[in-house]
Amino acid sequence: MQNNLIIYNSLTKKKELFKPLNEPFVGLYVCGPTVYSDAHLGHARPAVIFDLLYRYLTHLGYKVRYVRNITDVGHLENDADEGEDKIEKKARLEHIEPMEVVQKYLNTYYRNMEQLNTLHPSIEPRASGHIIEQQEFIKTLLEKGYAYEVNGSVYFDVAGYNEKYRYGKLSGRVLEELQNNTRVLEGQDEKRNPFDFALWKKASPEHLMNWPSKWSTGYPGWHLECSAMSIKYLGEEFDIHGGGMDLLFPHHECEIAQSTAALGKESVRYWIHNNMITINGQKMARSLGNFITLDQLFSGNHLVLEQPYSPMTIRFFILQAHYRSTVDFSKEALQAAEKGLQKLLKAIENLNKIKPCASSTVDIDILKKRCYEALDDDLNSPITLSHLFDGVRIVNSLIDGTAKIDESGLKALHELFDTFVFDILGLKDESAGAGDEKLTDDLMKIIIDLRQDAKDKKEWAASDKIRNELKNAGIVLKDMKDGVEWEKE
Ligand code: ZN
Repeated sequence: MQNNLIIYNSLTKKKELFKPLNEPFVGLYVCGPTVYSDAHLGHARPAVIFDLLYRYLTHLGYKVRYVRNITDVGHLENDADEGEDKIEKKARLEHIEPMEVVQKYLNTYYRNMEQLNTLHPSIEPRASGHIIEQQEFIKTLLEKGYAYEVNGSVYFDVAGYNEKYRYGKLSGRVLEELQNNTRVLEGQDEKRNPFDFALWKKASPEHLMNWPSKWSTGYPGWHLECSAMSIKYLGEEFDIHGGGMDLLFPHHECEIAQSTAALGKESVRYWIHNNMITINGQKMARSLGNFITLDQLFSGNHLVLEQPYSPMTIRFFILQAHYRSTVDFSKEALQAAEKGLQKLLKAIENLNKIKPCASSTVDIDILKKRCYEALDDDLNSPITLSHLFDGVRIVNSLIDGTAKIDESGLKALHELFDTFVFDILGLKDESAGAGDEKLTDDLMKIIIDLRQDAKDKKEWAASDKIRNELKNAGIVLKDMKDGVEWEKE
């Protein structure tokens, strides 16, 4: 398959031509959320960026298997090997089961992801559903001598691994530095080295989520699930592994070590990381009071917000920056994004008013070519958008009569917006659905009034006809005390 997609590989630190291992199939694994709180701004960026990648690869004709995991066990506070499980902590606070915490916040996450118009991944495996696979993985690492057991817990032997392979190849960290900089926390004396990490942890008596194993009743280390599940669903070698830059170290570094030690070879061809977001120039953190959930952002219900921002404004805003740059969520930037999106959608709406001429003074093919070139250049969505705004200028000049377009050009212009704005960038007109609902309500009111008129005049045949025809169309009228209500069957 012919493609010109060049992506930046975080592993080689180079832009590389994308070449799948097994065309036309592409394996894409993205680290998903640890579901212990409402989805927030930090979740929106990777979701939108990897949705863009998924959409673009699919558009190019690849059959993409997109796997995004759900972390529902083993992710401890501060990403450490000691301390409380984030989900268990929330379960204690809310007096509910850990799996209720997961379900509750997963429901919100899915709703928010749909609002952001991200497509569902092909598989969404959960860590708690793959305990056996993770235990098998640990057995392999123990057999190969890259792990050791202490008091019922199993740790990965980073120094031993480093003798054969290079630990730190993704993050660029070297073992000597880690030796000096890793804090030795209380309870870590089980490890041979402070930079070793847990594969299996023996559970303390108060720990809620445990599974039996040959080492102890316990739970898997956080990094292990992604090695076990990516290999299970995408094979020993697969194309792309993605996630936020905050996961690069230690999570992805540890994943590479685990998988390479178990398989004797590299598992992932291309590592892709999206950069972080800031809010008014500051890192988002609960302690800074600028922690904004997506629901708060969409409703405007937060102290730092003066207005709500629609999910599409947020999506557009995220796409306005290249995924490897930082993005600052400031009021001015969000308001500008809101205006920009409206301008783009207005132009697309105005397309329908344009009548073709016998000849053209505008070139749509060149715009289309530029849009592809921008996306092929490491998914450069801001440049793609700037070309689409050239398209907006063309629409405006066609409307005010300073330019002309022929029939095939007009068709190409429609296709340009359909393909890039809606299919690939995944934007949508949020007012469209709302408008339809209002229209339906208005029409139903007219019909119900007509039926009431017929009844008032004792024209029973007419009123029955209205009721029966609506029923045939799947709409049921209900006579209530204070009027008539309708609902879909
Ligand atoms: Zn992961």
